[in-house]
Amino acid sequence: MSRVFNFSAGPSVLPEVVLKQAAEEMLDYKGSGMSVMEMSHRSKVYDNIIKEAEQDLRDLMDIPDNYKVLFLQGGASQQFAAVPMNLMKNGVADYIITGQWAKKAYEEAQKYGKANAIASSADKTFSYIPDCSDLPISEDADYVYICHNNTIYGTSYKELPNTKGKILVADMSSDILSQPVNVSDYGLIFFGVQKNVGPAGVVVVIIREDLIRDDLPAYVPTMLKYKTQADNDSLYNTPPCYGIYICGLVFKWVKEMGGLSAMKAHNEKKAQILYNFLDSSKMFTGTVEKKDRSLMNVPFVTGNEELDAKFVKEATAAGFVNLKGHRTVGGMRASIYNAMPIEGVEKLVAFMKDFEEKNS
Ligand SMILES: *Cc1c(COP(=O)(O)O)cnc(C)c1O
Repeated sequence: MSRVFNFSAGPSVLPEVVLKQAAEEMLDYKGSGMSVMEMSHRSKVYDNIIKEAEQDLRDLMDIPDNYKVLFLQGGASQQFAAVPMNLMKNGVADYIITGQWAKKAYEEAQKYGKANAIASSADKTFSYIPDCSDLPISEDADYVYICHNNTIYGTSYKELPNTKGKILVADMSSDILSQPVNVSDYGLIFFGVQKNVGPAGVVVVIIREDLIRDDLPAYVPTMLKYKTQADNDSLYNTPPCYGIYICGLVFKWVKEMGGLSAMKAHNEKKAQILYNFLDSSKMFTGTVEKKDRSLMNVPFVTGNEELDAKFVKEATAAGFVNLKGHRTVGGMRASIYNAMPIEGVEKLVAFMKDFEEKNS
């Protein structure tokens, strides 16, 4: 067996101990005589898995009792529709456009009401987070929407927007569990799990209970109503059982690592190694405004496309994989999620230094 250092933006690296445990439990989960994939979602043994996963997430994020945690399907993108369908009462919402994912959510919301783009960083290829201290929030906005960490562009919010009393909704797909979050700052948080938590397909919604309504337009599918899912503890139909089980193992791993404050320290240390090198290098430069740099996704370029391609090729051969940047930014992107060990970043930087010496 030989594992690479996987810098993929998603699906991405998972903790090796979690994968090993899943392998050990594959054929016989805790004496049940079957795999988690094979058991009824209504069984006692599975009930323990999903309940424990929820409790561990609640512990980690310190989720207040008046918030529901829903384990759903359809990935983060499904929530681009579910959020406006469920939360638009006045039919108005304000979106802050900081990248492709926020833009997609904004475009989807336009199908269900009036979505306003109240700020954007599109003018500079989304390389910064706009000043959100005094935005033209719509008087009748049902919520203000942000993408908390911009996976493609490598920016993240260091300060939340001033929503002037409106509910804040956040897509945290690519930075969930990377640092502590004050859940009560939000009306709703959702995250597709395949960046920092588990296998693609599962999306987790954390929603304040008073936002769960039944008076929705008739067109809203039963499955997309938060009310349906909340009333049935995410078991209205068969949930993505195996994916939720892996998420549960990762929650336990984060707890063992010391929780979200420890995770943040670990992530800051990793990010600093890479950013410090980018700031000192004559060949490689980061593409993002320093104050808005993400702890999770680090895009960088050499300024020369041929050299970028050479770097990606040689890095791949050396076991540093999935470093090619998103096509809209070019260059490289290193995603250094929770499960990326410090060693992976140290070795990548050593490789970059060596590449720089040999090619300048
Ligand atoms: C990856 C990603 C998505 C899309 O997730 P899917 O599960 O593929 O729908 C949405 N938002 C952010 C911030 C992401 O990183």
